[in-house]
Amino acid sequence: FGAFSDIPLGAADPILGLNEAFKQSTSPEKVNVGVGAYRDEEGKPHKLDCVREAQRRILERDLDLEYTGIAGIPEFVSHAIAFAYGNDSPVLREDRVAAVQSLSGTGALRVASEFIARFRGAGTPIYVPNKTWGNHIPIAENAGLSVKRYRYYSEGTCGLDFEGLVEDLRAMPEQSVVLLHACAHNPTGVDPTEEQWDQVLAVVQERDHTVLFDSAYQGFASGDADADAFAIRLFAAAGVDMLLCQSFAKNFGLYGERVGALSVVCQSPEEVEHVLSQLKLVIRPMYSSPPISGARIVTEVLGDAALRAKWYAECKGMATRISAARVRLREEVERLGTDRDWSHITSQIGMFCFTGLTPEQCDRMVSDHAVFMTRDGRISMAGVTQANAPRIAAALHDVTC
Ligand code: PLP
Repeated sequence: FGAFSDIPLGAADPILGLNEAFKQSTSPEKVNVGVGAYRDEEGKPHKLDCVREAQRRILERDLDLEYTGIAGIPEFVSHAIAFAYGNDSPVLREDRVAAVQSLSGTGALRVASEFIARFRGAGTPIYVPNKTWGNHIPIAENAGLSVKRYRYYSEGTCGLDFEGLVEDLRAMPEQSVVLLHACAHNPTGVDPTEEQWDQVLAVVQERDHTVLFDSAYQGFASGDADADAFAIRLFAAAGVDMLLCQSFAKNFGLYGERVGALSVVCQSPEEVEHVLSQLKLVIRPMYSSPPISGARIVTEVLGDAALRAKWYAECKGMATRISAARVRLREEVERLGTDRDWSHITSQIGMFCFTGLTPEQCDRMVSDHAVFMTRDGRISMAGVTQANAPRIAAALHDVTC
């Protein structure tokens, strides 16, 4: 027996396991709609032209590869927060945002959770929507927070349970920590409307809650990054105590670059200094400092008027392709004549469609049709194309009728 002989086998990640099964499938018509990564009309990973151009320019400059500081590349951090809060944001004008570069969205969430546990106390509850991105739960728990849920998604309508959401926000203890998806909710594709956000804000203020915004899809919901920042900007301008976790994985197609940002809206520049010093104390023993490559790319794109305009156009292009795939998938499945209501395919937004399929139906999508999706009923719309929509629709029809 060795020192590690008693270690039990850990559970496989459901998405990574699905990718493995997809690779092994010999079906010539197999489709992967599991992973939440954008694909083009040919089903291939997509590199943005603005990113390609930024990489070319950066390479030409032959920059050094020294460590960046604990908080990352300052220029990147400035661009990242302006991108989220808006150039004319009162909290930025008043220097009230403490921000650091992070290891994409996951890293931002992990540091934020650690920070909350440290200063609100271990075991502090964090309220997450029911449903939410699966990783939210272990990220928060590993930092010592206790995860609780609020109502969000209605199985009955495949839409938002707005009354439940508001009731639960009101019923939480005052000054609770509440995680909100900024836009393009994962996995449900269901976001509040602007009027509903106004009402969520009112309850959050009434109860003096602290909000942890997860913004992993800015630009992906509507195709317009400014429109998608609506909730973030609304809450920041209203003076809500908030933290914001940004990812540049999806909107810039920089998945493996691990580039993101964590920011905390403070009351004053002095408070910013304190919070920033503590964020650095969380980061330093965790991973010391973040990688530089992705941050340089985002800085180059957002810092150059032409590349920035190109990014807006390319992001819009990705969102538009996904919307068109939604329309096509709905048309195709409705054409097959089920009495089931499929309108949620087009009413939901962002990267995902939450189909309402049962786990058993999802299993049949995989085993009978080689349409690889997770057992929670989620389809990544990024994997749906004009070419494969009829096949996916036929599979949906078959397992539900
Ligand atoms: N938050 C949500 C809701 C997500 O869906 C994801 C990725 O799927 C992330 C955060 C983090 O992604 P990453 O760490 O790749 O930026």
